[in-house]
Amino acid sequence: MTASTTASAPPAGKSALLSVEDALARVLDDVRVLGPEQVALAQAPGRTLAHDLAAALTNPPFDASAMDGYAVRAEDLSGNTPTLRVVGESAAGWPYAGSVRPGEAVRIFTGAALPDGADTIVIQENTLADPESVRILEAPRKGANVRWRGSDFHEGEAVLTAGTRLIPRHVLLAASAGHAMLAVVRKPVVAILSTGDELVEPSDRPMAGQIVASNAYGLAAMIEAAGGEPRSIGIARDDAEDLAHKFQEAAGADILVTTGGASVGDHDLVRPSLEAWGASLNFYKIAMRPGKPVFFGTRGSTRLLGLPGNPLSMMIAARIFLVPLLARLLGRTDKLAPVPAKLTVALPANGPRTHYMRARLDTSAHEPLVAPLGGQDSAFVRALVEANCLAIIPANAPALPAGSTIDVLALDF
Ligand code: AMP
Ligand code: MG
Repeated sequence: MTASTTASAPPAGKSALLSVEDALARVLDDVRVLGPEQVALAQAPGRTLAHDLAAALTNPPFDASAMDGYAVRAEDLSGNTPTLRVVGESAAGWPYAGSVRPGEAVRIFTGAALPDGADTIVIQENTLADPESVRILEAPRKGANVRWRGSDFHEGEAVLTAGTRLIPRHVLLAASAGHAMLAVVRKPVVAILSTGDELVEPSDRPMAGQIVASNAYGLAAMIEAAGGEPRSIGIARDDAEDLAHKFQEAAGADILVTTGGASVGDHDLVRPSLEAWGASLNFYKIAMRPGKPVFFGTRGSTRLLGLPGNPLSMMIAARIFLVPLLARLLGRTDKLAPVPAKLTVALPANGPRTHYMRARLDTSAHEPLVAPLGGQDSAFVRALVEANCLAIIPANAPALPAGSTIDVLALDF
């Protein structure tokens, strides 16, 4: 039993924030898979297959030898070390034109077509040969060392299913099945807008009170890894006019992600500015730690996701909400869900917000073990690199003794 099933319901009351699960359900509600486009195989890795893929070819395309040796008729092998007449040769790409008759053998090499009449390959190590004849020292069973036509797959058979995120072995299979182009789901275009008067590009050196705008870079990398197409539209100042101006550049994007300015401070203008731009917002506060000021909404066909300014909160919230949204838009069928692991230390009772703790997962033991790391300040980014997973402590979880099973999310970003 994981801790999430033992957690009690959040107390009803004035500050009932939206739970992560409910918020994610709203983000994913009514999301339809984007349309397909054709790409060459070389462009296919990382893309998501739009339709089931039927083989255009049969593999192996012909009965072929799996070994170097002699193609024979099994019925000729019954005697004691029988000797067969070698009538020709079949090499890869150079099939033997004739057929193998009783008492005959054809010299054959790996990948060569099995000649008509033959049904078995005797490996050369089990023969004694001279140019005209071959003596069989050890007879294999009938059919040995032959790869039969179609024993891998047949033309017309579905070899890959829609929603498959293509990794190298899928690309290999698609090529073997005779496809030079694949129909993949169009990449969701994600506009990224950083906001904040204090932000400067990493190529600049911050002056007093300034800080490097790192969010857009981490976010773009995450979006790309998740199969989307990031499009940075730069930094907006904490100014309604500048924000409105920058929003224009998100036109046509499937998603606009903003970072920063999402709280309720005097300079947090992103939400009101989006509303002034015609956005309708669905929620804006989530019971999660870090990352409470997350909002979600839509404007026309563009989905809007407001992420916290703190880099670490931003990355975690992006992993929790944006990555599944991209997966849904792509129709991906692979699982992004957390996995269970055993706590190596005790944890105190949790408050009303799901806590995503940077942690280290150890999978070398007979069961996965997880140890939360110290220093969970949401502005510290180095800690995110030292961690390899997020330990998920459910909202209102009771104190958890060492050995409790909790869910963890691999930090694959
Ligand atoms: P905010 O949500 O705008 O109040 O920002 C919260 C914190 O995150 C502040 O310390 C900001 O300076 C910082 N921050 C905001 N945007 C970025 C960014 N793009 N890159 C790095 N830090 C940021
Ligand atoms: Mg700000």
